[in-house]
Amino acid sequence: MKSTSLISLHGGHSKQFCCHAEDNLEEIIQAYIKKGFKTVGITEHMPPVNNLFLYPDEAAKGLTAQDLYQQFARYVDEVNRLKSLYKSDIRIHLGMETETYTGYIPHVKQLIHEFKPDYIVGSVHHVDDVCFDYSKKEYDTAIHHCGSHDKMYMHYFDLQYDMIKNLRPFVVGHFDLIRIHDKNFEQRFLSPEIYEKIHRNLLLIKELDLVMDYNLRPLTRGEKQPYITPFLKIIKELGIKVVPGDDSHGKAQAGNHVPQAIQILEDLGFNTHWPKPRLLTLDTN
Ligand SMILES: [Zn+2]
Ligand SMILES: [Zn+2]
Repeated sequence: MKSTSLISLHGGHSKQFCCHAEDNLEEIIQAYIKKGFKTVGITEHMPPVNNLFLYPDEAAKGLTAQDLYQQFARYVDEVNRLKSLYKSDIRIHLGMETETYTGYIPHVKQLIHEFKPDYIVGSVHHVDDVCFDYSKKEYDTAIHHCGSHDKMYMHYFDLQYDMIKNLRPFVVGHFDLIRIHDKNFEQRFLSPEIYEKIHRNLLLIKELDLVMDYNLRPLTRGEKQPYITPFLKIIKELGIKVVPGDDSHGKAQAGNHVPQAIQILEDLGFNTHWPKPRLLTLDTN
């Protein structure tokens, strides 16, 4: 553990740039520095492609897609400012967490072209354009929309496959987020038709040499298993890279559980010489 450096490549959402987060980004960076982090990736949510995809809290505040676009531009400026201000203490990577709804591919590519992030985190928070992770209510709406739990899972992993192919995110975010409001997820992942899609996606991640997000947010919410826990063994067998992500939404969460996560990865034999984030997306054009 002493020789392994603390890292998070998914997180640093701040109240300045995200409605459902707390604190200023600078305070969050200071929290990482205090906890001994030498590297961190800050990965604010991308602005929506249009007003249909505002999160409920954004819509409630009367924000528009255009407002969030401008807010994202301010986010990029702020990360760049903090990058140089704290460069002797911590290496900050400018990231962006993506979405997977209608129109996302050209939108993400345009955002990359304009804002030049150091890397992206490819996440799926919608199935059939219905957001499923925001609350249990949205989750149930998405199930209803897809027809059943199992169908929603299958749809999720198909969308994820397309997203990985089209965006080539350096980090694949919370791979198994679809289990977020489901108590029976372990059983569901074992269903052959769902597992087949999971395995297919893992093979693609391996083929493209992407990193998987060992996402610790469930621990922050009081759950037992970080994301990708059910698949860590097969991920290790396939030789896929894994890096912790605290998915922090405030300074109190910055870096939480990362030392334990690194210990678990080391015990399982994962390589903890962390890869350096970079942009792979435009290579696909
Ligand atoms: Zn968030
Ligand atoms: Zn996410």
